[in-house]
Amino acid sequence: MLLTDKFGRAITDLRISVTDRCNYKCVYCRTGNEGALYGDLPFPDYFRMARILTGLGIRKIRITGGEPLLRKGLIEFIHELGQLRDVDGNALDLALTTNGHLLAEMAQPLKDAGLRRVTVSMDAVDPDRFSRITRVPGGYDKVLAGVRAARRAGLWPLKVNCVLMRGFNEDQIIPFGMFAREEGVILRFIEFMPLEEDRVWAPNTVVTLEEIISRMGEYRPLVEIPHERSETARRYRFDDGIGEIGIIAPVSHPFCGHCSRIRITSDGKIRTCLFSVWDHDLHELMARGSSDEELSNFICDVVQKKEERHHIGEADFVPASRTMVHIGG
Ligand code: SAM
Repeated sequence: MLLTDKFGRAITDLRISVTDRCNYKCVYCRTGNEGALYGDLPFPDYFRMARILTGLGIRKIRITGGEPLLRKGLIEFIHELGQLRDVDGNALDLALTTNGHLLAEMAQPLKDAGLRRVTVSMDAVDPDRFSRITRVPGGYDKVLAGVRAARRAGLWPLKVNCVLMRGFNEDQIIPFGMFAREEGVILRFIEFMPLEEDRVWAPNTVVTLEEIISRMGEYRPLVEIPHERSETARRYRFDDGIGEIGIIAPVSHPFCGHCSRIRITSDGKIRTCLFSVWDHDLHELMARGSSDEELSNFICDVVQKKEERHHIGEADFVPASRTMVHIGG
């Protein structure tokens, strides 16, 4: 039994949020206050979910949060996930998304534990601007050290995610292009989505794919790299072959028709879409003593409810029941 939804999309990609705590308060994600928490689960519970889902066709697991590096025991958890095999007997593609604040010390242990690759979120290449966005002083140097440590440890491909939000960092497009070339990282610009705690999203806050390409073109010409239809990012390289830029454009160029993802929140709920207005309590079922078979059947039923697409910017848009930090991006 392999997971396929009612629109024929194979579900092969799982994101597990291991905490909804975060040490940053990025303007496009969180509110400036501490905010309420849903909490997290012991690692053996996430591991059981991952094991069952792997048996149903999951091939790639991305660990996220909140900020996953805040969780004690993460290295051991990654090591355990590294022992799982997909339905064809291959090792899983294990990745992690982090704000990078604690990565300098953890990059090598994560690699040694079996992590393949890492994505670091970084929304400015200027220390002051960086602090204005994260609302935490002094993070830039730590994150830069984290990016460099990840590269040294061989966590590859090493991607840097930048969410562009008008009024905060759209002037960072070219500096980021230079940064990608100098640091040897793959850059991913992400269009701002209405998933933030402060509900400040409006269509004109989104810096779109077209605008990013046009701005970057003023620095150096970009050449599009052919991409798989299932890839979320449109990929480009500079004309001299140095530096790769990707643009994830869920708002201006939605890719829901190729979505292969489901998510598990830090409190053990399955979410079938970032924009779901409900979630499905896998952990409660586990806590009631359900067998692996019962949990598998539940997951297969839930996947049938996966939404066809999001409705960002449309008159019938209903905000998601959780914000990004409590979903796991
Ligand atoms: N703390 C980790 C980090 O900073 O990467 C992992 C969790 S964070 C929620 C995951 C990703 O979601 C980050 O790359 C972040 O930039 C992105 N993100 C958060 N809010 C977003 C929004 N409203 N629109 C687009 N991307 C968002």
